[in-house]
Amino acid sequence: MILKKERLNDLLEALASKATVYVPRELDGQTRFAPFAKGSAVELGKAKTVFSPKETLFPQTETLYTYAQLGEDITLCETVNTTNQVLFGVRSCDTYSIERLDEVFLTRTFIDTLYLERRNNTLIVALGCTEPDRSCFCTSFGIDPAAGTGADIQLTDTGDGYFVEALTGRGTEALQAWSPFLTEGQKTAARELTFSLALDTSNVKDSLEQLFEHAYWNDLSMKCLGCGTCAFVCPTCHCFDMSQNNKGNTGYRFRTWDSCTFSDYSMMAGFHNPRPTKMRRLRNRFMHKLSFFSDRYGSSLCCGCGRCIELCPAGIDISRVIEDTSSLMGAGAEQQGSTAVKEVAS
Ligand code: SF4
Ligand code: SF4
Repeated sequence: MILKKERLNDLLEALASKATVYVPRELDGQTRFAPFAKGSAVELGKAKTVFSPKETLFPQTETLYTYAQLGEDITLCETVNTTNQVLFGVRSCDTYSIERLDEVFLTRTFIDTLYLERRNNTLIVALGCTEPDRSCFCTSFGIDPAAGTGADIQLTDTGDGYFVEALTGRGTEALQAWSPFLTEGQKTAARELTFSLALDTSNVKDSLEQLFEHAYWNDLSMKCLGCGTCAFVCPTCHCFDMSQNNKGNTGYRFRTWDSCTFSDYSMMAGFHNPRPTKMRRLRNRFMHKLSFFSDRYGSSLCCGCGRCIELCPAGIDISRVIEDTSSLMGAGAEQQGSTAVKEVAS
């Protein structure tokens, strides 16, 4: 079935009467997934949004529960997420990333109920890419930019419309409400996409492990500002910190995104910090993305979206890290051993 582009807004309006529909929109000069608003432009033509759709499932700040004390009675009120939402126009790099968030928040005996509630209430509509950005390298991690794996419904641009297909039972059910907006039509053959970044990531895990003590990390970290931008735009970064706001006898506990490049990220009680230098923090970021996560879950924690490449103010580029470490291995650099690291206090 085909959704003609001229019917797109009618469909979104209909969906928005029953759920919060997040679409790519330009707000304050940057694209992000924001609630559909009648009359506002939907940016489906751009490859990826500046901010990932992560924030619709795992908000930057989220109240966990509120509390109030009256005499000896304490009342706790946990947050419950009941709003139905649709993520519309998500790219394959981001559906891959949502699958990784699912692994972190919903598997290995740990269930994050706030994430679970949002995930259960969310329909994901993917859109195949037609024009990768210069910084895109999803195919280097085996991701098919046309497939939307992990989504419920897949859209494929046919020129004047989108070919619509359900990928899950939830997608099939949801499409019943779409039928007034669809017409008969066939899928056109996917266009061959040209990526300016194509990396061999097959040995990256081994390379990073063998170069763990290499001076490369120190040189790289000299440039890092510890600003956390890379983690905040990353669709797979999922670390958070918890705190509370107390106002007399009432208050609330909340969580906020955190970044492993922040100097106090791993600070413990008594001010011991197992990663006291920028070198250790930045090395940990890349090791987690390209090695440690794979040890635990069997997949890469980088989807090759390139957002951190575009936004890092210091020009630190994960694709360069993959290439550099591969070249260093080729040159036999792992033999330099642990004496090569000279840590610089930060
Ligand atoms: S965005 Fe760049 S400078 Fe900022 S913390 Fe990340 S790597 Fe460091
Ligand atoms: S590390 Fe960078 S390229 Fe990889 S998923 Fe995160 S933002 Fe995208």
